[in-house]
Amino acid sequence: MTDASDYAVGAVLEQRMDKRSHVIYYASKTLDAVQCNYSTTEKELLAIEFVLEIKDRKGYENSVADHLSRLVLDEEPLPISDSFPNEHLFHMQGEEPWYADFVNFVVTSTFPPLWKLCSHQVIRRCVPNNEIHFILAHCHSYACGGHFGPKRAVGKILDSGFYGETLFRDAHGFCKGCERCQRIGNISRRNEMPQMPMIFCEVFDIWGMDFMGPFPSSFGFNYILLVVDYVFKWVEAKATRTNDAKVFVGFLKSNIFSRFGIPRAIISDQGIYFCNRSVEALMKKYGVHHRVATTDIEYERRTDNGLWWLRKGKYFGRSSCSKVVRLSVHC
Ligand SMILES: [Zn+2]
Repeated sequence: MTDASDYAVGAVLEQRMDKRSHVIYYASKTLDAVQCNYSTTEKELLAIEFVLEIKDRKGYENSVADHLSRLVLDEEPLPISDSFPNEHLFHMQGEEPWYADFVNFVVTSTFPPLWKLCSHQVIRRCVPNNEIHFILAHCHSYACGGHFGPKRAVGKILDSGFYGETLFRDAHGFCKGCERCQRIGNISRRNEMPQMPMIFCEVFDIWGMDFMGPFPSSFGFNYILLVVDYVFKWVEAKATRTNDAKVFVGFLKSNIFSRFGIPRAIISDQGIYFCNRSVEALMKKYGVHHRVATTDIEYERRTDNGLWWLRKGKYFGRSSCSKVVRLSVHC
């Protein structure tokens, strides 16, 4: 298509496909002073002459066009796809301008991801999560940190112009996990271990005692009063004719109190020869604590002489004993 004006001519090369024209090439040319004096018809013809310039050359001078004209296509050419889906266009990523966040805030009043409106209407920029640990280390562990508490560390971070949404929580966790602070930091009373009272006793402070027997009579003696020190495991034994409170009190006075001193406690079972008024009066007089060892039904039932060792072994933590009495002691 050609057209001409008073000072130039123009032409457009088009190809019509499916009743639609597609532009292939544009061309234009300015008229000189002589051509400007042409009539309108002459200018139109000048435009056609400008567009149509047919040159016929011999085959050997125009080898490329000659070769192209002799090509034989055996296969149908692939159709040209003019489709360009929008998905392909949306996948194109470009770099956002620096003022994009400002425009979004002015239009929609929404803050960018790392910006937050704090108290006193102060807009702060939050530090990304992957950088807050590095900043905390600088403000707490490094030379300018001084291993102060989380409040001081947060103050330094805020003074430095940084901010984080979980800054206080992160600082608390960081200071709590600091190895040096755990080693040399102050330990409050809240961290104290519960105190366990430690009971200690010295030699001949606690005695355990019981009557053995009755045995077959030997020179009128049927019982053995056995006393064992809980710490030293010293054993005192005496053959007795009876197992009553009078014998027990006399044995304590003559063999224990006079030789080993006043003990702190005496442990016995619930036998009537141990739990009676005379024994209580003696203990009260000398300030000795009398502790009744057990109320086990098995203990009452096993009065047989053969089970005595088993009973003592059970009470003292041993399963068997020899005649040389060695009893383990549990205070
Ligand atoms: Zn620290």
